[in-house]
Amino acid sequence: MPTNKQIHLASRPEGEAQAGNFRLVTAETPPLADGQVLVRHHYLSLDPYMRGRMNESKSYAQPQPVGQVFQGGTVGEVVESRNPKYAVGDKVVGFGGWQEYSVVDGNQPGMLRKVDTAHVPLSHYLGAVGMPGVTAWYGLVKIIAPKAGETLVVSAASGAVGSAFGALAKARGCRVVGIAGGPDKCKYVTDELGFDACIDYRQHPDAKSMSAALKEACPQGIDGYFENVGGYILDAVLSRLNAFARIALCGMIAGYDGQPLPLANPALLLINRVKLEGFIVSEHMEVWPEALKELGTLVAAGKLRPRESIAQGIEAAPEAFLGLLKGRNFGKQLVKLI
Ligand code: NDP
Repeated sequence: MPTNKQIHLASRPEGEAQAGNFRLVTAETPPLADGQVLVRHHYLSLDPYMRGRMNESKSYAQPQPVGQVFQGGTVGEVVESRNPKYAVGDKVVGFGGWQEYSVVDGNQPGMLRKVDTAHVPLSHYLGAVGMPGVTAWYGLVKIIAPKAGETLVVSAASGAVGSAFGALAKARGCRVVGIAGGPDKCKYVTDELGFDACIDYRQHPDAKSMSAALKEACPQGIDGYFENVGGYILDAVLSRLNAFARIALCGMIAGYDGQPLPLANPALLLINRVKLEGFIVSEHMEVWPEALKELGTLVAAGKLRPRESIAQGIEAAPEAFLGLLKGRNFGKQLVKLI
């Protein structure tokens, strides 16, 4: 059996996460038991939610155990099988964690899903046609529930979730405005993703300035907001909401390293009769087939062209992950192993 390089969580961060919180370990892959398959990972998914799992504190997900393989989504290929449902060469999506190989019980529901790479590249099953894409779909369709012609705003617009949100919202006839960090990301959001406008928040570093930029980009006000960031950007959006606006509260990455995220004027939620709903995509497995079908169709048709930031080799995973939390990624952050 092959040796298997792994990244473990070595310690919990105090404040900002550091490379020293991770450790590279080399292990042996054990022989397969009946029903198991050996998957060689091609890509690891790096996702902002992983930062929350590094902490001990109570959250919607269990903390990542210290001293064990760092958990996360993976795509790869079956290289050995003792399960009749999986053949050597099958391409699969799973939750194999930060390691080169995983041994999976192929009979356990939800552990492994075969995917077709004829029209959608394997890596996209971790992004636009995977968990981040479904996240965008759920917040848009089930919470914001837009009508054609409405104005929607999404923060972290160039990222894995934000880019899918844009394509899905455009397909429903909405005006879509992104918020992203820097001119290159904003150019990609408008020119390649087809958003109607994009605001570079680095040019608008406080709520007042951001609110003025939103006024210009959203002359009819904002009917729906997909929140990925938190902080002053949320304050600015609240100041431009229309009555009966809907907010899908998906993430608050500006606070993931423990930064406080005060809300300056929560009364605006009442004044505008806003519906605000937080959600966790893994609690809505019932929508995944419908969402994945639409996302796969958009990608295959070239209507959603997701961008990827690809770090090379398992050793690069911790630094790439820390970069993701600081916006150094441009699109879905992956680690390529082979
Ligand atoms: P992205 O690919 O969007 O990467 C994260 C981006 O966040 C960075 O590229 C950066 O973009 C932006 N960012 C980081 N720090 C800040 C900051 N302080 N202020 C403003 N922007 C910042 O990641 P994902 O698409 O995977 O995730 C997007 C959001 O969705 C995250 O908040 C994540 O936690 C959440 N999420 C929630 C799920 C759920 O079930 N609720 C499921 C999946 C994701 P930029 O340079 O433009 O600032």
